Amino acid sequence: MSRHRVVVIGSGFGGLNAAKALKRADVDVTLISKTTTHLFQPLLYQVATGILSEGEIAPVTRLILQRQKNVQVLLGEVCDVNLTANTVTSKLMGMETVSPFDSLIVAAGAQQSYFGNDEFATYAPGMKTIDDALELRGRILGAFEAAEFTDDPVERERRLTFVVVGAGPTGVEVAGQIKELAHRTLKQAFRTIEPRDCRVILLDAAPAVLPPMGEKLGLKAQQRLEKMGVEVQLNAMVSTVDYLGLTVKDQDGTERRIECACKVWAAGVQASSLGKIIADQSDGTEVDRAGRVIVEPDLTVKGHPNVFIVGDLMSFPGVPGMAQGAIQGAHYATTLIKHMVKGTDDPATRKPFSYFDKGSMATISRFSAVAQVGKLEFGGFIAWLAWLGLHLLYLVGFKNRFTTVIAWFITFLGDGRSQMAITNQMMYARVVTNWMESHTQEAMEAEAAEQARERAAG
Ligand SMILES: Cc1cc2nc3c(=O)[nH]c(=O)nc-3n(C[C@H](O)[C@H](O)[C@H](O)COP(=O)(O)OP(=O)(O)OC[C@H]3O[C@@H](n4cnc5c(N)ncnc54)[C@H](O)[C@@H]3O)c2cc1C
Repeated sequence: MSRHRVVVIGSGFGGLNAAKALKRADVDVTLISKTTTHLFQPLLYQVATGILSEGEIAPVTRLILQRQKNVQVLLGEVCDVNLTANTVTSKLMGMETVSPFDSLIVAAGAQQSYFGNDEFATYAPGMKTIDDALELRGRILGAFEAAEFTDDPVERERRLTFVVVGAGPTGVEVAGQIKELAHRTLKQAFRTIEPRDCRVILLDAAPAVLPPMGEKLGLKAQQRLEKMGVEVQLNAMVSTVDYLGLTVKDQDGTERRIECACKVWAAGVQASSLGKIIADQSDGTEVDRAGRVIVEPDLTVKGHPNVFIVGDLMSFPGVPGMAQGAIQGAHYATTLIKHMVKGTDDPATRKPFSYFDKGSMATISRFSAVAQVGKLEFGGFIAWLAWLGLHLLYLVGFKNRFTTVIAWFITFLGDGRSQMAITNQMMYARVVTNWMESHTQEAMEAEAAEQARERAAG
């Protein structure tokens, strides 16, 4: 008889931790992910601002799991999940694979959301993938290069204006780092511009910075950012984004323009579409407005006690879209799967998932962060040290920790950054890829229409 088959979708915090937690279980695991790496998203902004390389925050999943013999890693984008046949269909470059499962853990995470204005993405890349971070590095450093190139003071000012949309942890971190980059690393690198004169604007439709961390810490972060020269604009909603800049609508309804070359989108998330595909096949499970699956207390979907949704794709009261939510969800689901294999699981009497809040933190600049652990709220150097230690702890792999520490020494104790190279690929690959995808789709549709015409003609 074959062993219990577990399919895990995703190699992020949820997927990787699920696969690892099943190391000693009597199961065969297939981990399917559309990326070859396990991405440590909390440090993406450091890739975007030249502190770390992409390899330091994205080790290869296959190599992390190479000694775990009960796991097979498959590269591919899951395009369908069939809850009647218990199969997952994934595609890689036109090749299709169907993976049967006895238990399924879906940890496909979320994408950037432009709140229905997907066209903004062309000019304001998000910050969800390595490609995003590298493209942003190209755009941030490219804006300084372009500013050195022009004699027109108005255009120079536009090129030296950076707008970060979204004052959550990512927005705060990116805004702070662009300022530090200009003030420290680039301070003597140009001849006709003064990088430290650059404008960095952090704006948000909400009335506060870092809303989930509470008023006190939000205010602390805002004051620190303003001291660094970041302009914080709240109650400001972006209404259009174009090549030259963006339009913002203030609380009183007035619209104004900000002319800027580099825009970063760090607002809003939209869960993977796999959530809806699965919910639609369940016995009544729904998705919320962000596409997250409103899971049962045991993280499953109605009528399928063997199908678990964890991490950013799940909606569960009190669980934030953070790494800990995904890790704890993965451990909970794998514990139940181990009980299933031993024959000691009864779906009707499962202990519900409960989330242990270990707190949250955000860095603002070198030596300055804000942190919230339980009722304790603190900021400054101590919070920054806590941030440093915690991020090193959660980075996967000794080599990555070692090289990250060296890169941090270079950046935080000196003025340097070791990853300042930019390439044409970073700047233009997304445009080319989008063009190719849409043209391939058009070509396939035209071919299908032609075949249909031929069939109709006999
Ligand atoms: C810029 C940024 C900064 C953050 N900072 C923090 C922080 O400081 N602290 C914190 O706790 N959290 C932070 N988070 C949130 C944290 O990273 C997420 O909550 C966490 O990654 C969620 O884990 P996950 O496994 O659900 O999804 P992810 O880590 O997003 O992983 C999803 C996986 O699914 C794969 N996938 C998606 N769709 C498919 C498909 N159709 N087929 C196959 N594979 C698929 C992806 O390739 C990926 O491997 C941050 C997030 C971002 C974007």
